[in-house]
Formats: sequence, structure tokens, C-alpha cells
Amino acid sequence: MSATSPLLALNQPVGGEFGITAELPTLELIHSFREGKFPLRYGYYRHVDHPKLKVLQEALAEQCGVPHARLFCSAHAALYELLRLLAHERKGRRLIVLHSGELTPEWHERLALVQAECVFLRLAAEPLPEASEWSRHDLLLLLHKGSDPETLPLQEAGRGTLLVCSDALPPSLENHPHIKYWTAPVSDAQGAEIGGVVLGKVDRVMGELHELRKQRGAIFSTRLTTQANPQNLKSVSSISAALTASVAHREIRRIFTEMDNAEDALLYPSGMAAITMILDTLRTVERPKMIMIGTLYTDTYGLLRGSVLEGTTLDWEWVGVGDLGRLEHAIDDRTALVFTETITNPLGDVSDLWAVSELTRRHRIPLVVDNTLATPFNCQPLVCGADLVVYSTAKHFSGSNAHRGGMVLFREGALADTLRCQHHLLNMELCEDEASFLRGCLTDFPERMAQFNTNGLRVAEFLCQHPAVKEVHFPGLPDHPSHAVSQRLLCGTGSVISWTLHHDHPESFQAVYDGLWGPILKAPTLGSNTTLMCPYALVAHYHATDEELLDLGFPRTLLRIAVGCESNLNEVLAGLQTALARAFPQPGQG
Ligand code: PLP
Repeated sequence: MSATSPLLALNQPVGGEFGITAELPTLELIHSFREGKFPLRYGYYRHVDHPKLKVLQEALAEQCGVPHARLFCSAHAALYELLRLLAHERKGRRLIVLHSGELTPEWHERLALVQAECVFLRLAAEPLPEASEWSRHDLLLLLHKGSDPETLPLQEAGRGTLLVCSDALPPSLENHPHIKYWTAPVSDAQGAEIGGVVLGKVDRVMGELHELRKQRGAIFSTRLTTQANPQNLKSVSSISAALTASVAHREIRRIFTEMDNAEDALLYPSGMAAITMILDTLRTVERPKMIMIGTLYTDTYGLLRGSVLEGTTLDWEWVGVGDLGRLEHAIDDRTALVFTETITNPLGDVSDLWAVSELTRRHRIPLVVDNTLATPFNCQPLVCGADLVVYSTAKHFSGSNAHRGGMVLFREGALADTLRCQHHLLNMELCEDEASFLRGCLTDFPERMAQFNTNGLRVAEFLCQHPAVKEVHFPGLPDHPSHAVSQRLLCGTGSVISWTLHHDHPESFQAVYDGLWGPILKAPTLGSNTTLMCPYALVAHYHATDEELLDLGFPRTLLRIAVGCESNLNEVLAGLQTALARAFPQPGQG
């Protein structure tokens, strides 16, 4: 890939220094980046590493003499993500855990989360097999203290793959070809952990880990890049305040549990991290199947369809919103969970959560509801019978485009205990800087959300009446298939609207998209206080085939507007008017 392009001058961050999204002002920029011609400088926070994060990762890789370094929200999360990838690449892979002292119960529990066959060998106490006896498929995980690779009790891994999990960064792994991966905490200037890193030598695996992190979301916050001290090779003895639950965390949990009628909540480094942790908890080899209702947010959809355990892609089944008969038929004794979004992204479908939960309860299957588009202001899924509620807090709660985070809410019970334990074992806490920032944003959330609802409806009605617009998907409109359900279930229908144009042939589509949109920014994400829009199908499903798009229920030219909470919408409407005026029929068409 060529490193730069003049097109990138247009690719500016949205949300300031720690912005979570970026402007994509022309279709050429989107096509070029999606075709792999160059990487974006700025983009949606899980998908495009912020320049500061890139610099830190490159510094770590260089200093440790490896080609790749990938940062995660914690050292335990870094190891977990690497192990989930390696251990499940194929069936029958053994994870051989080599440890010096007594292994604590916590470590046993942590490794059990990987759901792989583990063999424990205590060094010095038990004779180790000859290096030549390790099989090509053995993963040798060496739990180690200290930074010096020379002092490792294992200097040969034969054909097995050696991973070192240490409490310190190594000086350089260049002269240690047998060590393929090294995971360690990354510390601040005081030597306390603020995140974790996987250092790796295998290009393919590190590339896959990078892709997985985009989807699974155990990210290192850009806010912490300025605190990281990559030079610190000493053992990290404590977890810094940045990674522990603070006053801001407690306050956020209190606010959300009240709003959502929940009993407790857990915070995560992203919405996808929250969803991933739920899926990893519920889906097992015995109960691998998951049922999704409606077309879901692209990464959730990908994660549900693409999760792998022991070399096998886990089962999933898709059920249309409102198709309770099909849902009942789909549930069987291999079903781990049912997942839906209160208002689906991007088509705005709404399930009758009361009816769905009545069914899932009867079958004792957990119902997980992503309430990101509705927010607790409009719906409390736990009250409607859901078992878990999940959010990306990067959206309406923040409104600023400058916060990344996620959350799960629940009532007490066995599932809550399991999630809490997993959250603790992997140290999946939202970092303190993000929590404090989010806390500040929540002060006027109810007022903003009321305005999001009002504005959403107004823009949807405007689009509906516009002659250039073909279809509008928004549950607040009377002719949307979910309108009746939404009126019963929701207090408001939010402000995410997708629509298509009558004249969506390439020239017209480009003229509409590439021109000016008044104050509306062309950037992906939603729940921003100021209005954003994007060519949703191109941004979120670029590589989907026509058939896949047909299944998803929208064309390649689907546009999405995430209306903001501006108190005066006139300029937004004028911007839309200007943009839509550029649509034109194909030559020869009426
Ligand atoms: N759920 C929905 C409905 C979303 O739209 C998104 C992101 O856009 C997510 C979950 C994932 O959240 P995050 O991007 O914070 O990981």
C-alpha cells in the first residue's frame, strides 16, 4: 500500500485530539481506502488506529526487536485475545502452560476462559519433554517474571509455538528466534500498568490479531498514549489508577442502573468489547448456537457469524423482526443466546421485546439486547424481560465524538456473577480517563436525548417528503413496518435514519455525496451532538456481495444520517436540501 495520497488531506478527525471518528468527504477517498490503496490517517476508533497509538505501537515493536506490537486495554486482555486466536485456529490444539511456582486459582480461572484444552507443567518440579517432542500444534505458554529472555527456563520449543507471558517488556527478542510472542503490561511513568501489549513475529497471526481487535474491541484508549512509558522494562507491580474502578465508574454505574432499572453494570473499553465478553461467556462448544433478530450493526453481525471455537465457525441463525414463529422454531438445546437491537442499525426495525422475552424465558435462553440506538431514555429492555442490556457509550451518552467505551447492565444472578468474574480476570475495565470524560458528558444526557428524538422525527419527515428520496427507514414514520411496535415499546425513536435516492446511479450518487452538506459532517458513527451522515453500506459492508446485501435488506447506495441534538435544525435541513438537489436522472431517463 502506498503510504500517502493527496486525498488524505480531506481525512480530518472529528471530536478533537481524541476524536473517535473522521471526515470521509468523497466517495473516491472511501473507495481507495477500502480497496487497500492507502490506510486512513483518522477513522472510527476501533477500525483505524489513531496516529498516537500507531507511534506507540511502532516504538514498542522497535525497542523490543519484533516486527509487530499490538496494544490492548490490559495485559490479561492482550494474552486472552492472542490465546483465543491461536488456540482455536484448529481443532485439537493443546495449550501447555509452563509455570515456575504454584499457579494461583485466578490463573486457572483466567486460562479456563480461553475454552481450550490446557495441560499444566510445573517447571523444575516435573521433567519437561525434549524440545523435539513438542508437536507443531502445541502452544507453549510460559508464565514468566522479568524482562530478560536469556533467563527463560525454556530455550527451545522444537516445532511448538512459544509464547511468553511476562510482567515486564523484554529488551530485544531479535536474537531469540524460538520466542514467537511475548505479552506484557505497558506501564506509566510510575511503573504501574495502564494497558497490555502483544509483541509478535508471525506476520499472518499479528495481522489477524489486528483485524480481530477491530471487531472484538479490547482496545487501548488513545487518551492513555501520552501516559505510556515504553522504556520501562521493569516488572509492573501494580495496576494503575487508570485501570481501576474509580469514583467516576461508580457514579456512571449508579446513573445507568437507575436509568435502566438494572441492579448493576460493568464498563468496558468499547461497545464491541462488551458484546464480545457476553458472547465469549455464553457460547460454548456444547451450546454454540446463537440467534440474531433483525439486521444488526455490522461488527456485531460479523462477530455473531464469524466466531470460531476449536477450528469450527459457531452456528448462528437469523430471524426477521416480528417472526416469533420462526424464532420459536430456531431455538433448540444447542442455543446459547438470542441477540437483538432495540432499534436496529441501520434499518430501524424494532422487536416486540415483551413477546420475545416471554419466549426466551420459557426456553430458559438469555436474551441480550443492544440498546445503543434507543438508549434508556426511550426503552429499558430489562423491564421488558431482557437478561442483559449492552451499550456503546461512545454514542448518545457522550455526544462529543471524543469518548470510547461500552457497558453491560443486568439484574443479579448467576450470569451477572460470571460476567463480573470474567471482567475482573481479564481486567476489561474502562480506563479512568475515559470514565471521567463520560461522567462529564452524562450531566445533560436526558435533555440532549429528548432533542435527538425531536430532531430525528423532523428530519425523517423532511426526507420522506423530498422528491429525490425513494425510501426512508425510521420507526417513527407511520409507514415503517415497526411503527406500531415502536409506539408501544419506546418513548421516542431516536435519530438514526437511513434512506435511498431515486437516482442512485454512480454519477448522481457521487454528485450528492461529494458536494456540500451545510453543517452536516460526512463521518461514520451516531449519537453525535452535531449531525453526521455516511454512505452506510459502503462504509460498513464494502466487501459484501450483492447477495449478501440482499440478505441484509439494503442496497449499496444506502445513506445514513445520525441527526444531532442541535436546538435549531434549520441549517441541517438546508444542508440536506442542498445535497439532495444535486441528484439527477441517468441520461435518457425521465
Ligand atoms: N452496537 C451498535 C448498535 C453500534 O452502532 C455500535 C457501533 O457503532 C456498537 C454496538 C459497537 O460499539 P463500539 O463502536 O463502541 O465498539
